[in-house]
This record gives sequence, C-alpha cells and structure tokens, in this order.
Amino acid sequence: MADCIFCRIARGDIDAAEVYRDDEIVAFRDINPQAPVHMLVIPVAHLTGIAAADDDDIALLGKLLKVARDLAAEQGLDKRGYRLVINQGLEAGQSVDHIHVHLLGGRPMRWPPG
Ligand code: 5GP
Ligand code: ZN
Repeated sequence: MADCIFCRIARGDIDAAEVYRDDEIVAFRDINPQAPVHMLVIPVAHLTGIAAADDDDIALLGKLLKVARDLAAEQGLDKRGYRLVINQGLEAGQSVDHIHVHLLGGRPMRWPPG
C-alpha cells in the first residue's frame, strides 16, 4: 500500500521513533502519546485491521502481542501493569487502516475506556 502511513513507516520512508524491528514486525512511539509509554506494534505487511486477518495471519497476530508484551517488560511495566489495545473500525475510533497494537502504560488506566 503505497500511501498507507504505517506501510511508509515500515519501509523506512517516514521517520518514526522505532523501538523494535525484525523482518515481520516494527514498533515505534506514537506521535500523539496518550500515556507516558505509548507505542504501536505493527506488521510490516499491510493488513487493514484485526477484522481482515485470516487463519494464515494467526502466527503474526500472536507475534504482535508477544512483541508488545516484551516491550512492556523492557519498559519496566510488567509489574505495574499496562494495556494493549486494538481499535477496529469506525466506532472504536480506528484512524489508521493498518493493524496496530497500542501499548499504553506508565499511569493508572480507567475502565471502561471512553
Ligand atoms: P488508531 O486510532 O487507528 O487506533 O491509532 C492510530 C495511532 O497512530 C494514533 O494514536 C496516532 O497518534 C498514531 N499515528 C498516526 N500517524 C502517525 C505517524 O505518522 N507517526 C506515529 N509515530 N504515530 C502516528
Ligand atoms: Zn499499511
């Protein structure tokens, strides 16, 4: 997807504060952080959202969560707690149509989310 902002970050065409990269996954700091730690974990391959994932993507979905979990631990959040969020579609407020896991932490979180 040539004009997808997260594809462009994954390709390195746009700068982002990267915190993790391998062949399949990139993670970087959110440009508009909603918590002291706010990172986004994305697949390099374009996938519009969790709803578009199929059975071939199961391992990739697991890896997105694993990378997010490991980054949380790296940030010292594993004892304090943190939140992983995937927004899907309009009513959830998804604004970038390239699947991403939000890692949020470093402050108390309320429930339910707004
Ligand atoms: P969504 O609302 O789709 O779940 O989350 C999209 C997130 O991507 C938002 O939190 C937004 O701040 C972040 N974002 C959008 N464009 C960019 C960008 O160019 N760079 C970075 N680092 N984050 C972005
Ligand atoms: Zn994309």
